[in-house]
Amino acid sequence: MDAKALRRHREKLAALKAEILNEGDLAIEPGREDPTAVGHDEDGQPLMEMSQTIASSRNRTRAAVLKRVLVAIGRAENDPEMFGLCTECEEPIAPKRLELMPYVELCTECQQAADGPVKGGSRRHLRDFR
Ligand SMILES: [Zn+2]
Repeated sequence: MDAKALRRHREKLAALKAEILNEGDLAIEPGREDPTAVGHDEDGQPLMEMSQTIASSRNRTRAAVLKRVLVAIGRAENDPEMFGLCTECEEPIAPKRLELMPYVELCTECQQAADGPVKGGSRRHLRDFR
C-alpha cells in the first residue's frame, strides 16, 4: 500500500473513532421512550423489549467496531507494511473493501470462512422476534 492510501485510511480510522466516541457512553441507550408511556396495553411491552434489544445490539456492534478501529490504528502506526493485508492469509484485502471498512482485518475469503455458512447474522436475529 502506498503512503498516500495509508494516510487516507488512517484519517478515516481517526474520524471513525471520534464519531463512535462522540456518540457517548456505549452502555447508554439514547432516545429511549419514557417507560411509563408504554406497557399500558398488551402490545407495548414486547415492542419496547424489542427496541431495547435492537439498541443494545447496536451498541455491541459499535463497541466491536471501535475495538477494531483501535486495533487498525495501532497496526497502521506500528506495522504499516502489514496494514491492508489479511491477518489470516496475509493476502492484500480488496481496496474497495478497505475503503468501506478501513478497520477490516480479513479478506473476503477468510471472512466468509470465519462467518461460516450462516448469512446475515443480525438480520436473522431480528426475525426471531416474530
Ligand atoms: Zn485472507
